[in-house]
Amino acid sequence: EYDHIDEVYSYAKEIIRSFGSPLKIGENTICITVSIGIAIYPSNGKNIEELIRNADIAMYKAKESGKNCYVLFSEDMHERLMERMLIEKHLRGAIENNELDVYYQPQVDAMTGIISGFEALLRWNNSELGFVSPLKFIGVAEETRLINPIGTWVLQKACSFLKKVHENECCDISVAVNISIFQLLQENFADVVEDILDSTGLDPEYLELEITESILMDSYKSISSSLDRLKKLGIKIALDDFGKGYSSLSYLKQLPIDTLKIDKCFIDSIQSDKDNADLTGMIVKLGQNMGLTVLAEGVEEQEQMNYLIKNGCHKIQGYLISRPLPANEILRFYKEWSLSH
Ligand code: C2E
Ligand code: CA
Ligand code: CA
Repeated sequence: EYDHIDEVYSYAKEIIRSFGSPLKIGENTICITVSIGIAIYPSNGKNIEELIRNADIAMYKAKESGKNCYVLFSEDMHERLMERMLIEKHLRGAIENNELDVYYQPQVDAMTGIISGFEALLRWNNSELGFVSPLKFIGVAEETRLINPIGTWVLQKACSFLKKVHENECCDISVAVNISIFQLLQENFADVVEDILDSTGLDPEYLELEITESILMDSYKSISSSLDRLKKLGIKIALDDFGKGYSSLSYLKQLPIDTLKIDKCFIDSIQSDKDNADLTGMIVKLGQNMGLTVLAEGVEEQEQMNYLIKNGCHKIQGYLISRPLPANEILRFYKEWSLSH
């Protein structure tokens, strides 16, 4: 019973505060964090089961937001949870039911206009859910570790696709595949990649693995030996979404990367904001000076492309060149593009 919700919050704060100092148990000192989910009768549940279930959902939300906090349940949390559960249920059968596909988005050399590679992008079409965006299902796939078999499947698809492209006389083209941290954390990840290269016969120098900036910075210690092995095989590493999170420039020098993929937000700012445009130009130069290949992603306007070329960006990817295309349209696109460039 309470008069105002603030009373509930200050009660929660009080609980968290009471765990604030370390506890001494025997010889050991332990620190405990508290995550609290709050559900209120009757609006958040009409019986104990409902209340506890909803408090539980809110508690997971509290954990997600960094622990040591409290969160009040709301209906949209429940809806999001149901959506995730639905995605999970259907994703489990996605490979077997042939629902996954890989699209390829061209990357061109800024100076010559020649297509230098493709980024492999996963697509999922489920009979009940329709097309689901990777932005929605990759997170679920990661939480459930379904990303491991799915990621292997994408690598296999992309490498055998590229091998076929090479056989069609477009030899000097590479493929970039997005890799999740959970794949990299598997001890045998480098073996998995090596097996795929062996079985498809693809030369490792044409494979690039894209790893997002935040992951690489956070988990570098636990994945560095895996990365070293991959580098020794001759595979390239791209730092994806550069600039989107917290870019630690001093760290950048130590990372074993070949390509810097500048995030779309920097490309968007080229036209809208002069100071930020200058910043984008400086990032391009920084990458150049470090001996990296600099690629701009999400390029949609000719003006952006001109600016990037003027500032020495090496590669361009985005709707201005092409949207991601299904494998069976790539050869046609390649021929048409080569004729006009
Ligand atoms: P990402 O790696 O940053 O991929 C770029 C996203 O931007 C893609 O979205 C692409 O379709 C979109 N894009 C490309 N050019 C433009 C443009 O000019 N304008 C705009 N507005 N968008 C553009 P998509 O395919 O929806 O993929 C979203 C994200 O899902 C990817 O972001 C990537 O992080 C993840 N993802 C996709 N495929 C895989 C995969 O096979 N494995 C893993 N682990 N993640 C994947
Ligand atoms: Ca990417
Ligand atoms: Ca990206």
